[in-house]
Amino acid sequence: MASDIIIVGQGICGSLLSWSLLQKGISVKVYDIDADHSATAAASGIINPITGKRFVKSWMVDELFPAADKTYSEISQAIGVHFYEKLPIYKLLESVKEQNDLSARATETGYEQYFTNTDVQYLDKGKVKNEFGSFVINGGGKMDTQLFINSYRTFLKNKGILIEEPFTYEQALVSKSKVIFCNGYKAAQTGFFRDLTWQIVKGEYLLVRIKDFYADRIISGDTTISPTSEKDIYYAGATYQWHYETEAPTEQYKNEIIESLNKMLHVPFEVVYHGAGIRPSAKYRRPFIGFHPEYKHVGIFNGMGTKGISLSPYFAEHFAEHIVNGKELLPEVDVKNILIKS
Ligand SMILES: Cc1cc2nc3c(=O)[nH]c(=O)nc-3n(C[C@H](O)[C@H](O)[C@H](O)COP(=O)(O)OP(=O)(O)OC[C@H]3O[C@@H](n4cnc5c(N)ncnc54)[C@H](O)[C@@H]3O)c2cc1C
Repeated sequence: MASDIIIVGQGICGSLLSWSLLQKGISVKVYDIDADHSATAAASGIINPITGKRFVKSWMVDELFPAADKTYSEISQAIGVHFYEKLPIYKLLESVKEQNDLSARATETGYEQYFTNTDVQYLDKGKVKNEFGSFVINGGGKMDTQLFINSYRTFLKNKGILIEEPFTYEQALVSKSKVIFCNGYKAAQTGFFRDLTWQIVKGEYLLVRIKDFYADRIISGDTTISPTSEKDIYYAGATYQWHYETEAPTEQYKNEIIESLNKMLHVPFEVVYHGAGIRPSAKYRRPFIGFHPEYKHVGIFNGMGTKGISLSPYFAEHFAEHIVNGKELLPEVDVKNILIKS
């Protein structure tokens, strides 16, 4: 049996799994063809602990966020690039009912660290339409995903472990090494894991120029506006498209985001870029991790859906512990259970 573990894909999943394995002294080879067009490169990179209409904590947030903080700061240090920033999230409120709902949630046990200020905050009404104000959510942040992908790729290249070629299913079939597919939504189209409960979701986004705006926070309303590392340039989006005819950006969704921005802003904005990406989402919103029950040397680390940036650090370590030390996988993420059931 060859010693290197082969990782297919250098999005957030392949990058973080390679990192966790390298930290445990395991040698890896990472194959990637086009990480610049990955879901990771298209992502706004936001980590948000409180989501949904009911303002509840995201699944496993108390474990996921410390893991993300730790991993991202360790990688930042190792590669000498600052790509992750903790930022407050200003959730715009739509009604007095929402003000009351969030105030009630903020005082619940277990939510203290995410709501350090339980008063409604008003943003500059000359800039942002916020009749009912906003609530500040702490503990989240934002990764510059493009910067991360590029700088981590250089790190892998310098170590001589990146191979800029596709890795095929036929190669995996005859491989003497373990092969772990971190190939994003492509895993749903073909190969060993296409029978998992995928629910692929396209997302479109805009980069917009806004002068004298809020570079120190994320603002979540009809769409989400977050700062980028470029001065006056903000990420707006993304959309959710369960059915789509093209993977390319479309006028329809560009206009939808512009409409949302118009609903949120009093200040002018200029569109400087329009992009799209495909999220590898799982129907039951749990990652797909583990080895194939039949092809036992073939694994998957995928299905992160809308939350790849917050889920992958914890689960990369979880999977690496399974691979290296035989630690049991959480039953709800272990693909063995899902594939045997289906
Ligand atoms: C528009 C948009 C906005 C998003 N915003 C957020 C956000 O704010 N916060 C958040 O947490 N998540 C967000 N997400 C979701 C997040 O981006 C995904 O969960 C995550 O990036 C998935 O990572 P991945 O590594 O599984 O897949 P990908 O990032 O798609 O990476 C897969 C990689 O595999 C490579 N590959 C495929 N096939 C092969 C092959 N045969 N050989 C070699 N290489 C191969 C591809 O080139 C690619 O680089 C967003 C997604 C989109 C599309």
